[in-house]
Amino acid sequence: MREALDLWQQEAVQELTSAQSEQEVTQIRIKYLGRKGLITGALREIGSLPPAERRRFGQKANQIKAFIEKAIADRLEELRQVKVAQELEAAWVDVTLPGRRPLFGRKHPLTQVLDEVVTIFIRLGFSVAEGPEIELDYYNFEALNIPKDHPARDMQDTFYLSDEVVLRTHTSPVQVRVMEQQSPPVRIIAPGKVYRCDADITHTPMFHQVEGLVVDEGISFADLKGVLELFVTQFFGPETRMRFRPSYFPFTEPSAEVDIQCVICQGKGCALCHSGWLEILGAGMVDPAVYSFVNYDPERFTGFAFGMGIERLTMLKYGIDNIRLFFENDLRFLRQF
Ligand SMILES: [Zn+2]
Repeated sequence: MREALDLWQQEAVQELTSAQSEQEVTQIRIKYLGRKGLITGALREIGSLPPAERRRFGQKANQIKAFIEKAIADRLEELRQVKVAQELEAAWVDVTLPGRRPLFGRKHPLTQVLDEVVTIFIRLGFSVAEGPEIELDYYNFEALNIPKDHPARDMQDTFYLSDEVVLRTHTSPVQVRVMEQQSPPVRIIAPGKVYRCDADITHTPMFHQVEGLVVDEGISFADLKGVLELFVTQFFGPETRMRFRPSYFPFTEPSAEVDIQCVICQGKGCALCHSGWLEILGAGMVDPAVYSFVNYDPERFTGFAFGMGIERLTMLKYGIDNIRLFFENDLRFLRQF
């Protein structure tokens, strides 16, 4: 029995030396010191020994048990240190390597132009207003003087979600929402996405508009012209010429379409413009009928509104001939801006 104890001690030391993981050490602990382990079993059998031997055997067994316990603890500590060393090695950093250049994103050309337009109008004292893209028929049409049987509804191919709910076809409903909430003076622009059931090289079902609205006492068509002239010369350059053509919109009276001199041919006439002029926006004096929807006094207040397409402005500014390029996410195209 005592020889067996010596042998187990040797074997335990050898096994611990070759153990490479905590799990292996645990197996060794169970083998020798567990509830059914070899040393535990030997200690349990002391009672069956002759009384003269019990004391010495018990001392010996307890010594070996303590020895193995310490050997286990030592081995665990060694393994832990090896592991720490390995982790440090893996996390080693070569501080002499050159750094990695961070990848910069950039703004989409439409976002760049939208930001530029908004900045110009903010400098002119406008503030930015927003409204929902899913809009009530009332705000998109009726309160803008376009009743259900109005022929102007044919001008806009509308996405209807229900009889009363549409994807807004223009940013003009924001005008009505702002006037409902606020008394004059009003001086806002409303940039945002709009939707029409239309797709070709100059139309996409979703595009961006900026709406402008000014209402106050004594606002005249001259104020409209002055604001748009400032905008056009800041956006397209100081030499850009502009002209107004009479037009029709249900919610402005009188109404005009605004052209700029062609940015490609400088007015000589080319494949893009034909006439030397390019239409860039629609505008007009707010129709007094619209004021009755928002309880403004049409005898006291006058105002003007204008709306323009961001895609169109961007195409004209950069000479892009296909609107779909904006939405194909081709980096070779987008990186030019
Ligand atoms: Zn031209």
